[in-house]
Amino acid sequence: MDLKTSLGSPVIADPLPTLVLPSAVMTFTTPTSFPSPGLYLNTSSKKKPLPGKIEEVRASGWLDLMMASSPTRKRQIKDVVNDVQADDHDLQYCNWMVDYPSALTSFEAITDFAGSKRLALFLDYDGTLSPIVDNPANAIMSDEMRAAVRHVASLFPTAIISGRSRDKVFDFVKLNELYYAGSHGMDIMGPVGKTTESNGVECIRSTDTQGKEVNLFQPASEFLPMIDEVYKRLGESIMDIDGARMEDNKFCVSVHYRNVAEDDYQKVFQRVTAVMEDYPCLKLTHGRKVLEVRPVIDWNKGKAVEFLLESLGLNESEDVLPIYVGDDRTDEDAFKVLKASNRGFGILVSSIPKESDAFYSLRDPAEVMEFLKKLATWKEQST
Ligand SMILES: [Mg+2]
Repeated sequence: MDLKTSLGSPVIADPLPTLVLPSAVMTFTTPTSFPSPGLYLNTSSKKKPLPGKIEEVRASGWLDLMMASSPTRKRQIKDVVNDVQADDHDLQYCNWMVDYPSALTSFEAITDFAGSKRLALFLDYDGTLSPIVDNPANAIMSDEMRAAVRHVASLFPTAIISGRSRDKVFDFVKLNELYYAGSHGMDIMGPVGKTTESNGVECIRSTDTQGKEVNLFQPASEFLPMIDEVYKRLGESIMDIDGARMEDNKFCVSVHYRNVAEDDYQKVFQRVTAVMEDYPCLKLTHGRKVLEVRPVIDWNKGKAVEFLLESLGLNESEDVLPIYVGDDRTDEDAFKVLKASNRGFGILVSSIPKESDAFYSLRDPAEVMEFLKKLATWKEQST
């Protein structure tokens, strides 16, 4: 299945005239080039890995990555205030959307393709269902978004796959109708099905908050003591850096630098990597204004999607269309899995052009909510 072929050219499926183009667009007949891809891409995977455990954040490129993380809300507002910058940004975004059409304006093409297939929805949390905020503890989901997620979950199998701990993301979402995978998929609470093990790790039978039987899958459980230790050590190492904040995500640890002065980014990185020297079984990755420490295991959000599809009995089925919506680099693993298996597709949530393995895009959580509402309406009207 080639979605882009099946759905027609992205340009035709999502014709530019439907977009509100800034006046600057009208004066150009040829696309303006994007900024250096290095600003937005994880180019590290193309470089020869350095020895040791720092697999994705390398000394030569870490500062670029830390600087180029998606802009904070303050910076987006500043862009809007500056008309010239805003026009330039819009032009780049419109050009980018030729390759990553809006899932809203391509909605009919998506549902035409879905036809009678059973949809399975996978949703990231931060930046997808909730806005990115300065304090991660305040990434609250709106009641309207919660209602939209509850509605789609009543119509399609729906799972949240987050980098946060499973308990924490449940506290934010508060919906029992969903399946949850926390710690980047390293802590999955799924249905009791035929899946009893994966990658040689056994599922644990448990009960959820409502007493319903569930399967717990925790492929990194042996790393828990080490993760606890590194959480403490990292906390001590950055405690004197203004704005640096730790987050315990059970099977991984986050060091948020969203509120750190740019001049101190280097200090954050140096402190974190100094601690990491003692933990060759852990690796450091980079997300949206966050450095993340996690076990070196062959498991990620993409594997979690495969595991959940199998648990739900949807893995072997030709008439299933999995859709994954996410905004972060860690979501690319899931986009890749769906792309490689030609079964479904990813939707990247981004307000800036980014290279991605997703097929479609949505600009922000507000558009995600609109997409979920349209999916529910479509499903209800077609049955
Ligand atoms: Mg996210």
